[in-house]
Amino acid sequence: MITPDDLVALIRNYNPTCDEALIRRAWNYGAAMHDGQLRHSGAPYFTHPVAVASLLTEMRLDDATIITALLHDTIEDTKSTYAEVETLFGHEVAELVDGVTKLTNLQLSSSEAKQAENFRKLLMAMSRDLRVILVKLADRLHNMRTIKSMRPDKQAQKARETMEIYAPLAGRMGMQWMREELEDLAFKVLNPEARNSILRRFITLQRESGDVISRITADMRLELDKAGLDGTVYGRAKKPYSIWRKMQEKNLTFSRLSDIYGFRVIVDDVAQCYAVLGQIHQRWRAVPGRFKDYISQPKNNGYRSIHTTVSGRDGKRVEVQIRTREMHEVAEAGVAAHWAYRDGTRAANPFAVDPAKWVATLTERLDSAEDHDEFLEHVKLEMYSDQVFCFTPKGDVIQLPRGATPLDFAYAIHTRIGNATVSAKVDGLRVPLWTRLRNGQSVEIITAEGQRPQASWIELVHTGRAKSAIRRSLREEDRERFIRLGRELSRVSFEGMGRRLTDKALTTAARALALKDADDLLARIGSAEISARAVVAQLYPELATLPEGEVDAERPVVGLEPDQRFRRANCCQPVPGERIVGITYRGKGVLAHAIDCEVLASLESQPDRWIDLHWLDGKHPPVHAVSLQLTIPNSAGVLGRVCTLIGENQANISDLHFLDRKPDYFRIFVELDVSDAQHLHRILTILSAENDIAEAIRVRDPKRQP
Ligand code: MN
Repeated sequence: MITPDDLVALIRNYNPTCDEALIRRAWNYGAAMHDGQLRHSGAPYFTHPVAVASLLTEMRLDDATIITALLHDTIEDTKSTYAEVETLFGHEVAELVDGVTKLTNLQLSSSEAKQAENFRKLLMAMSRDLRVILVKLADRLHNMRTIKSMRPDKQAQKARETMEIYAPLAGRMGMQWMREELEDLAFKVLNPEARNSILRRFITLQRESGDVISRITADMRLELDKAGLDGTVYGRAKKPYSIWRKMQEKNLTFSRLSDIYGFRVIVDDVAQCYAVLGQIHQRWRAVPGRFKDYISQPKNNGYRSIHTTVSGRDGKRVEVQIRTREMHEVAEAGVAAHWAYRDGTRAANPFAVDPAKWVATLTERLDSAEDHDEFLEHVKLEMYSDQVFCFTPKGDVIQLPRGATPLDFAYAIHTRIGNATVSAKVDGLRVPLWTRLRNGQSVEIITAEGQRPQASWIELVHTGRAKSAIRRSLREEDRERFIRLGRELSRVSFEGMGRRLTDKALTTAARALALKDADDLLARIGSAEISARAVVAQLYPELATLPEGEVDAERPVVGLEPDQRFRRANCCQPVPGERIVGITYRGKGVLAHAIDCEVLASLESQPDRWIDLHWLDGKHPPVHAVSLQLTIPNSAGVLGRVCTLIGENQANISDLHFLDRKPDYFRIFVELDVSDAQHLHRILTILSAENDIAEAIRVRDPKRQP
């Protein structure tokens, strides 16, 4: 086991100015906390955090990350607390340790492979700092390296998790070596027969053709020497899992596979990369279609390298990667290269990708460059900060926008579930439907048959999917309500004309008005698109003429010149019986305003436009539109009752719509035509007296509703 001195030496190698005292304190604290605990292998538990920390020194990471590695299991597995870690090692370390603990606590088990991507996103979303993921990956790598001492069923579960989630995550972080090693360690558990067969093929190959790697490496060194090029050549056999996957993907046998060996030439600068390439192509035949120049065209994760495949005399192909030292660092450490130290300072590697850009590519939100500086300043990374990931009871992950509520969750599963939601449990506890979900929570939706979306839900949901589903359902419900309302209005109108409302009459009228069917007609009457009176007029034209002896509604006032046209002002909707004033406009028109209308104040400076007007005595027809605002409970039949009352009192409803809808109360706007002030007051009194109507008030200006 390595000692504190060893670890400090490993760090000092790349970071001579590291905080040695703090690192030693973290060591002592971790060792004390884990004292007495053992690993499955029987080794003292603290050997594990130490191994994780030394793994991270290979990536040359900063003090905070190394200390986090030493403490990563303390909050979870010992009596240590967040507060204590914060007091002893500072806020940054406490946050990082807490981040690792949260990832460790996630239950990442799902039968469905497509969930793996969501799990990876969840891990990133919960991390907020890429260093949390780096520690978690190193933790997993050490656990996989020592997996042999676990129970076989546990081994399989860890290996699957590693293969599906952690190995691809390492790939995403740009750490190809770690990805390959994690995959291969998992492969060893999941499919040992396949892996052994590949290892056996390697042995056979070596017996047949000798040590290919050292031969080719020596050949390449010779070529570079001849050309006076200074570079380091590495050769290696690919990992059994990489080979097995290629065999599966390309459906090839081992002997026909070309990429068994990989070679790398590391040089000092870009010019030498191309010089080496030229030298290699001169010596060996390049395989067409296998050349890629990621130096002039870097990948967006910062990867730079020249790739080529050449074939030797025996026809065997080998892949060669050529890159500079700095490029190599990025290719190995990935995003960690950003934190890597060299000679005591944060290494300014020109090829290291700024983590913000990295995150942007990962989250597919690479848009503008401006926001990125801030990320760089604060190392802290809000990954997927606009999203949350929650679990279904089955362990599937549902991805939602930040601010999403259990209702969004329900609609994300299925519209049917959303519509039938009555309540929700988060992590087993009943919560209100407006609760905002947080990452990693487990959500259970409780549904009931017969439940329908409430209008107030619109304000509780965040997703477009939930909003449109709720609106759709409300519209359907509205339609049903409008049909009921239309039937009520029609009945009243028909009876007022001494006729009976029959389905046959409705169908006939619908056809005459070119509508789909009777329900369509009723819905339009209910929503005030068509007046019930017009329908009666359509069917019985003889009933629609005005009775004798009524005042002419076109000129119901005294005081007009013969060529002046009369209109009622819509800002105050005066009715016969109320005191009015006429205002001329555009020469021939006269608008009648109520004497107390606010608009009149602005006309005081133009006295020549004012005219004295009086309503004619006599019976006025019910054609004067007035606006009411009613508050009614959301219960079956109340709206119909309102319409019946208005209809029974010989007033025609010309418009009706909802102003707002609370779960238990509606506010509705009703425009109706009355004959005079007395008529209006009678209707208001009757409505106000009705038990089910909470409030009925007249609104002077329908455009300015309170
Ligand atoms: Mn651990």
